[in-house]
Amino acid sequence: MKKLPFVTKEKAQEIIRTVPTPFHLYDEEGIRKNVRDVLSAFSWNKGFKEYFAVKATPNPFIMKILSEEGCGMDCSSYTELMLAEAAGITGKEIMFSANETPAEEYELANRLGAIINLDDITHIEYLENAIGSIPETISCRYNPGGVYETSNGIMDNPGDAKYGMTKEQIKEAYKILRDKGAKHFGIHAFLVSNTTGNDYYADLARTLFELVIEIKNDTGIKLDFINLSGGVGIPYKPDDEPCDIKKIGENVRAVFEEVLVPAGLADINIYTEMGRFMMGPYGALLTTAIHEKHTYKDYVGVDACAANLMRPAMYGSYHHITVLGKEDAPCDTKVDVVGSLCENNDKFAIDRYLPKIEKGDIIYIHDTGAHGFSMGYNYNGRLRSAEVLLKEDKSFELIRRAETPKDYFSTFDIFPEYSKLLK
Ligand SMILES: *Cc1c(COP(=O)(O)O)cnc(C)c1O
Repeated sequence: MKKLPFVTKEKAQEIIRTVPTPFHLYDEEGIRKNVRDVLSAFSWNKGFKEYFAVKATPNPFIMKILSEEGCGMDCSSYTELMLAEAAGITGKEIMFSANETPAEEYELANRLGAIINLDDITHIEYLENAIGSIPETISCRYNPGGVYETSNGIMDNPGDAKYGMTKEQIKEAYKILRDKGAKHFGIHAFLVSNTTGNDYYADLARTLFELVIEIKNDTGIKLDFINLSGGVGIPYKPDDEPCDIKKIGENVRAVFEEVLVPAGLADINIYTEMGRFMMGPYGALLTTAIHEKHTYKDYVGVDACAANLMRPAMYGSYHHITVLGKEDAPCDTKVDVVGSLCENNDKFAIDRYLPKIEKGDIIYIHDTGAHGFSMGYNYNGRLRSAEVLLKEDKSFELIRRAETPKDYFSTFDIFPEYSKLLK
């Protein structure tokens, strides 16, 4: 399927007159519509809730939009918890799914009334020491080990992953938690990232549903919720088949009715913690072509770099590129689209066929709405970009300004001799 930008060249030019490139742009209309589709796909489950994975797009303006549509927030660090609180999202609207968690993060999660998801059995005692008791509602993270293969053939290697508890540990953990006063229990597992097809959640659901029955039979503990976590993928490439969330919801429902309902567990709530699927397609990195270079290859140099979007450099990920205003021009020029880092992996595209790019062209890098801005860093003294929201009425709003050198130097503020860097 042809991938089209959610913004026109004219609109992008209008924004750039106020906010220079590079910046990440988000599409409010797309975000809201997608949440409604997700909620509708799982509406068969009365207690369904999507806890948006904050790490994907940690911006309070985005979080508020998702929250208005009915999402909770999945936080995994102290500052992500602070962000949720600042956005007015607290209590059971927060799932705290962290690992190797410091005590002060458990304290803050507990103070906010978040649902805490324990990554390991040893964290029961650690949590108790940190907050003085065990919360009434508590969740445990499961890792089935081995190699995980979905019916679609997608594989990952949970046995090699640092997360979660073994089956024996998790059963023991629920018993200990019950003895320490916990009353409501959940289970969580995250096994495969960026999945394609519509079977991953249903396959994971079957694994968890069967375990939930085993837990009930072995310990007498009846779980309240099952958290399928994240992992639903998006079509980064034009030829990728998009996931069909309606089908995904129906597939989970079929397993729910086959496995849980006959076991008398029809009132269990299903939760998800999607990041990529909620935001990925509804963000783009806009950058301007500022150089071209012809040596052993042909290069287009842009004003963004891997510090603004790390995925291509880090994972070799494909991000589709559209040259705004040249949507229908033939892609007959082979180039590398590169940023300014002193790192040869700072390439947004390698040997990509694109329309002939002129200096000044606006390059639209697709699908940066999740794990895009948030993975940014400051290597080479490069600064993080602004974030802009394209609203439903097509007006726009700056929702995070770009960093300035002052931000970069702010951690030298304890040294008077460097104060001039902070002016
Ligand atoms: C990263 C993460 C998610 C979101 O994953 P996506 O692939 O973006 O859907 C959800 N839950 C936890 C615990 C995570 O670490």
